[in-house]
Amino acid sequence: MPVPKRKRSRSRRDKRFANKGIKVKALTKCQNCQAPLATHQACPACGFYKGVKVLVTKADRAVKRGEERQARAKKKGMQQQEMQQPQEVVPEQEPQK
Ligand SMILES: [Zn+2]
Repeated sequence: MPVPKRKRSRSRRDKRFANKGIKVKALTKCQNCQAPLATHQACPACGFYKGVKVLVTKADRAVKRGEERQARAKKKGMQQQEMQQPQEVVPEQEPQK
């Protein structure tokens, strides 16, 4: 009759039952972006919960950063144009006689 060579330790034995009680979490879809989402949590993708924006997401920060960068570039461009533009020389009008 085959017999195990060694005793199975308590640790090894109990690992078998370690995830017996784990249940699959219920998932829903985000109402705003349809991403899979755990219930009763704000959507990490779009930052909405029950149709209200409650989180600032990474995408939001990226968009804001882009806008700020554009505004800065525009401001800098305007400053450079002012530097490059020669002062408008107004031709002196000859006094008409
Ligand atoms: Zn979402």
